[in-house]
Amino acid sequence: LVEMVRLFETRVQVPTADDARDLGRRLAPLLRAGDLIILTGDLGAGKTTFTRGLGAGLDVRGEVTSPTFVIARVHPNNGDGPALVHVDAYRLGGIDELDDLDLDTSLEDAVTVVEWGEGLAEGLADDRLEITIVRAVGDDVADVDADADPREVILQPIGARWSTTDLGNL
Ligand code: ADP
Ligand code: MG
Repeated sequence: LVEMVRLFETRVQVPTADDARDLGRRLAPLLRAGDLIILTGDLGAGKTTFTRGLGAGLDVRGEVTSPTFVIARVHPNNGDGPALVHVDAYRLGGIDELDDLDLDTSLEDAVTVVEWGEGLAEGLADDRLEITIVRAVGDDVADVDADADPREVILQPIGARWSTTDLGNL
């Protein structure tokens, strides 16, 4: 009998880019080596901004930038924590091509974040965290603060690995 693990999504409002980074920073301590995050959202939604905060929270080396001109970048950890593997799957034909890249780390030793991975990266792991960033048009915050460009971040954990991690307090 395969036990069905039903895990609920968490929604977090991020009024500004700093808030998106801070959310990544807060998520980092809940992650461990081998975790896979699939990031979905339009161009400019804030996927890389969020990942930058994640990198800061994990304390990894190197600037987290848009990986558009390289397919994947490995950020080794400054301490004993996991490395960050930051992937742009946009031009990947299939996820098998990730194996062909010969990264300096195995994904079991890293937290892997895949931008544009929807419909492609699911094959990497049965357990994964699917994060979708959408523009929160007409949000109350925008009415109060003209500089705010609010987004909503939806975190959907999938698989037994996430049944022991509470994302509800993010
Ligand atoms: P993506 O990787 O999804 O294409 P980026 O993170 O590269 O997006 O770009 C998002 C841009 O939007 C950045 O310039 C960031 O400063 C800006 N921004 C403004 N408001 C927000 C917000 N609430 N959340 C995330 N990014 C924001
Ligand atoms: Mg990006």
